[in-house]
Amino acid sequence: MQQPGAFINGERVHTEANVEVIDPSTGQPFATTPDCGPAEVEQAVEAATIAARSWRSVAVPERARLLRNIAALVERDRESLAQIEARQTGKPLKQARRDAEITARYFDFYASGVEMLYGSTIPLNNDTLVYTSWEPHGVTGHITPWNYPLQILARSIAPSLAMGNGCVLKPAEEAPLTALMMAELAVEAGIPAGLFNVVTGYGETAGAALTQHRGIGHLSFTGSVEVGKVISHAAAENVIPVTMELGGKSPNIVFADADLDRAVPVLVNAILQNAGQTCSAGARLLVEESIHDELVARLREVFAGVDIGPALTDPTLGPVISQQQLDRVMGYVEIAKDEASISYGGERLSGGSYGSGYFVQPTLIDQVDPASRLAQEEIFGPVLVTSTFKDADDAVRLANGTDYGLVAGVWTTNVSTAHRMIRDVVAGQVFVNTYGASGGVELPFGGFKRSGHGREKGFEGLRGFAQVKTAVVAL
Ligand code: ADP
Repeated sequence: MQQPGAFINGERVHTEANVEVIDPSTGQPFATTPDCGPAEVEQAVEAATIAARSWRSVAVPERARLLRNIAALVERDRESLAQIEARQTGKPLKQARRDAEITARYFDFYASGVEMLYGSTIPLNNDTLVYTSWEPHGVTGHITPWNYPLQILARSIAPSLAMGNGCVLKPAEEAPLTALMMAELAVEAGIPAGLFNVVTGYGETAGAALTQHRGIGHLSFTGSVEVGKVISHAAAENVIPVTMELGGKSPNIVFADADLDRAVPVLVNAILQNAGQTCSAGARLLVEESIHDELVARLREVFAGVDIGPALTDPTLGPVISQQQLDRVMGYVEIAKDEASISYGGERLSGGSYGSGYFVQPTLIDQVDPASRLAQEEIFGPVLVTSTFKDADDAVRLANGTDYGLVAGVWTTNVSTAHRMIRDVVAGQVFVNTYGASGGVELPFGGFKRSGHGREKGFEGLRGFAQVKTAVVAL
């Protein structure tokens, strides 16, 4: 059994108590990581504070060079990172390989980004020189979930380091192993020890100690709305900025004039990628009445052919992350039995090649009442719910009819309909005739409404890790 330590000040740190990491494909533990608490968080924040003092004065080209080194090492170790990522999350190997590629790309992108991020001069009057510069927050805290451990780490650690901050990361207890690998790679890349620390353990202990620590200047959190509220309170207590990415119930809106040959594979991937455990999963299918039967029949046919299996056999659909997540998904299936029609799937798969892994069939729940829990709540499993709409106004009403607003997909061949939907649908990203669950390093990403606030990815994500200083010089 692997027992990697937490990573603090460039060193492996062990604790007496440990947290098991379970392989969702088998239901068996295969590693443990330290059960860190306030003492380890204290050490990590102190190390990051000291390291960040010098790092902020390291010239931007040098910071960028070191970030590019990290990218190169991630590419070198892509296969081992992908294997561990697949094993700890249950995601199919090809998806984990892609995650590792995207991780490298974040470090490359933000290396270039920081080199291109200039301040401005402000023409106040002829006798005064006014300019702005970007200042780091100091130490940034990062709380990440288990669904995309590598990618979500990279999208906040890379810009934070680029802008001159030190970092302390608390990865999800279910899937902490690749974060520890990344921290070691950063040191190998030449990032000073102490600048990027990983404190493992539970949210209520290690996570809470980190989010409440007075030495933290900025928090980024990706996870559930409930925990997001707790962390927002902690941030408010210390009066620090916080970026919240809290999930969604994102619609794919399919008009009767859509090219279904193009749409169907994308709609399927939007819900089955990472077993539906993607914040931006295309979890609601809103379909124009006249093509409902045809589209549902086509989706059912594709769902029936999906290969399901352990992550390392590289299937299309792997298990969900945990027993708890499996119970949650099956709970929604129970609701569907009473309230809607299960058009395909709805069964847990076990025994034989599935063993005691957490496998669920791809599931299509049809004719869902848009007001019901099935249509309103994030299921976070391979479960697609469908409702029909009459016209564009109706589609907008349904699309906007949840608490969330993360991503939306629009499928139409009418250019006016497309732009009208982009204008009216409340979501941080709107895709037309395509859908982008995860990925998209360059594309600003984040939610409206309860999906959170602040933007990660792209140039927007870089600015979030710094504050503007305005200098006023009388000549
Ligand atoms: P999910 O529903 O995806 O498991 P959570 O919101 O429960 O998401 O967890 C996301 C991250 O937040 C994990 O790293 C978890 O350990 C952490 N976390 C959970 N509770 C707290 C808390 N009270 N304070 C800080 N972090 C927490």
